[in-house]
Amino acid sequence: MEHRNFALAGLMGWPVAHSRSPDIHNHWMAEHGLRGAYVLLPVAPDTLGQALRALPVLGFAGCNLTIPHKVAAMALVDRVDPVARRIGAINTVVVQPDGSLAGFNNDGFGYIESLRDEVPGWRADAGPVVVLGAGGAARAVLVGLAEQGAREIRLCNRSADKAQALAAELGAPVRAVPWEQRHAALADAALLVNTTSQGMHGQAPLDLALDALPPQALVSDLVYVPLVTPLLAAARARGNPVVGGLGMLLHQARPAFAAWFGTMPRVTPALRALVERSL
Ligand code: NAP
Repeated sequence: MEHRNFALAGLMGWPVAHSRSPDIHNHWMAEHGLRGAYVLLPVAPDTLGQALRALPVLGFAGCNLTIPHKVAAMALVDRVDPVARRIGAINTVVVQPDGSLAGFNNDGFGYIESLRDEVPGWRADAGPVVVLGAGGAARAVLVGLAEQGAREIRLCNRSADKAQALAAELGAPVRAVPWEQRHAALADAALLVNTTSQGMHGQAPLDLALDALPPQALVSDLVYVPLVTPLLAAARARGNPVVGGLGMLLHQARPAFAAWFGTMPRVTPALRALVERSL
């Protein structure tokens, strides 16, 4: 909307109180000299459609979506990006020049970029991947890894039916492996990813024996509170390279900012430090 010179975006959720997204986007707005604000928008589920349609009226460039809106919003926007459709949820809405709404999901991008950023030369086709968990975050990680050329992804989830359904939906290279076989599934793996909530502050550590994991395998955890989970500490102690979940949180925000405000922002040490202080 060229006649407006105030950059506006926000996060719709219910509740939205604990998000770090305002810190990230407001930091970038200041860094890029944009006058504007990224605000929290508490939106109850039954008013999501009205709230989304208000975005162009109010001059918003778009918004992010969090629990419980990520799936419901897909049916309420005008266009859903194919990657988001594959993931099955949208976390970003971009108001188009004609006022219509386009939905995207940048979580898979954020995950892949966090690995690239922290492990130069990382490749998805370096060897078998083991993904633990089959929830919303796992879907984005699986789609991201498959897009990047992973050849074999072993998907282990506590509830076997969910892993089987997701593997059947996504197809090759994703294959369901029984939860009981997760320890043995680590043999010859190049990448291990925890997408379960285990290891998060207030939750039990992930129950996983790393003995079979090759020492050069990369271990990544989507959990970012704490920054070093028990899984990452155990992996580090045996010499494996590790990547925490904060990078994904920061990198997934970049394409949204770019789509809204026309410039791709960077994840800098200053931004990391800012968000780390808020954890
Ligand atoms: P979700 O959809 O609720 O999925 C939770 C997953 O954890 C399920 O696979 C569930 O298995 C598993 N799980 C829960 N309790 C378990 C237990 N006691 N033992 C084994 N598995 C257990 O949640 P989500 O949205 O995918 O998020 C998962 C985690 O990723 C959260 O910690 C979240 O903070 C983190 N995350 C991080 C980022 C980031 O940017 N870094 C982004 C998104 C999410 P069942 O199917 O058996 O219940």
